[in-house]
Amino acid sequence: MTVSVVLFTSDLRVQDHPPMRAALEGGGEVVPLFVRDPAVERAGFAAPNRLAFLADCLRDLDQTLRGLGGRLVVRSGEVVEEVSRVVRQADADEVHMAAGYTAFARAREAGLRRALEAEGCRLYVHEGVGGVVPPGDITPQGSGHFAVFTPYYKRWRAEPPRTPLSAPQKLRVPTGLRSEEVPGAAELSGVSPGLAPGGEREGRKQLRYWLSHHVESYEERHDDLAGDATSRLSAHLHFGTLSAREVVFRASRGGGPGAAAFIRQVCWRDFHQQVLAARPEAARQDYRSRDDHWRRGPEAEADLAAWREGRTGYPVVDAAMRQLAHEGWMHNRGRLIAASFLTKTLYVDWREGARHFLSLLVDGDVANNQLNWQWVAGTGTDSRPNRVLNPVLQGRRYDPHGAYVRRWVPELAGLGGAAIHEPWRLTGAERAAYDYPDPLIALPEGLARFRDARRLLPPDVFDAEST
Ligand code: FAD
Repeated sequence: MTVSVVLFTSDLRVQDHPPMRAALEGGGEVVPLFVRDPAVERAGFAAPNRLAFLADCLRDLDQTLRGLGGRLVVRSGEVVEEVSRVVRQADADEVHMAAGYTAFARAREAGLRRALEAEGCRLYVHEGVGGVVPPGDITPQGSGHFAVFTPYYKRWRAEPPRTPLSAPQKLRVPTGLRSEEVPGAAELSGVSPGLAPGGEREGRKQLRYWLSHHVESYEERHDDLAGDATSRLSAHLHFGTLSAREVVFRASRGGGPGAAAFIRQVCWRDFHQQVLAARPEAARQDYRSRDDHWRRGPEAEADLAAWREGRTGYPVVDAAMRQLAHEGWMHNRGRLIAASFLTKTLYVDWREGARHFLSLLVDGDVANNQLNWQWVAGTGTDSRPNRVLNPVLQGRRYDPHGAYVRRWVPELAGLGGAAIHEPWRLTGAERAAYDYPDPLIALPEGLARFRDARRLLPPDVFDAEST
């Protein structure tokens, strides 16, 4: 009888799970395994919010597997050593896992291949975790990856979505294998108080709700900061409690402009993943250098600290930063505004902002975080690298009634309408009634500094006033 190990990584689900499907085809026993590798924490990929969400995912997966007659085996340690140990203990013939495309995932796969060969056990790597189209599957002529989103998207959407695989009906796990308890959110420190729960069950509930109630209005409402009219599926896609292929498959069955706009947005994940797979150093280095000499020293440090704390004096920036601290998640429009403010208006290195986001974001991942930061900083794939978002105009446009600011910056809650976006315009006495900081810098001053730093002529700074 064949014994197979299914190694779960960022695919913590039973629905649409090719490694599980392949392992069950052998007809024998299956060991569903998850390894908590301290190297992930050392590499800075772990953060309290993601660990708490992960704990929910593992508990949920274990519960689901128990319902099928099995269970999840959890181990801690270096992943190659632990998988080899479980293979020996279960006398397994095969290991099945999904392909990953980060430098870490590739090293893990290579290490496993070597170690398992020595154990006389075969490693099967199935279609990738996370994405819809694996990096390298679609490429432009003469290059290994697309550097511009729109042509990538045109090719990507021409790929027919595959029908999702169903969940297994039954599972037999060998007896006698030790499994560890996973610390839950209550045992972890630094978890955001408003963090959403994790797990496949939650993800599926949210997906059903999203597709039946809100996706239709996505095109018009996705930038409405207060309306919270986006899917909030990012953490589920990151941990693989939902398969991106299934999300796209189900959304595309609905049709309509809302679904099309939503699917286009999901494509950004694959776009960034294929950039990072081709250029792994873009996690740390400029994808396209603009010869920046970012501000350093005590003043820049103080600005960075104020930005992190949500005390820049620009209400919409501060609201976004406080949402991040409270929920471990931030609205995409907030991410764009906050990142533009740090890298352009304050002219602080995008890596500082990316590090802070990764320390809190429940959906934080290297490809999407680092490359979105680079996109905003103008060192990435944006074809308008010098655009600067004006936080007042952005606030007026995407939070016209100030409801988002009022929610996250309660000290300004007494201010009515769009005036909330410019509290410094209040008269002295009115101003004194609000315990809220003055702006770190006047916007024209920030713009001039950025223009000088990038040696731009005034017309080169796109949309400074209008976007
Ligand atoms: P929706 O608007 O409902 O979009 C659907 C899905 O599409 C999202 O769940 C997400 O998986 C994907 N998506 C949407 N926009 C993008 C995008 N610009 N790039 C890549 N994928 C996208 N997203 C992450 O998943 N992880 C990150 O670490 C991350 N860091 C970011 C940092 C910055 C500075 C910026 C500007 C954006 C970042 N994003 C990141 C992208 C985007 O902000 C989030 O994916 C989105 O806000 C998640 O909310 P949602 O699920 O409601 O999105």
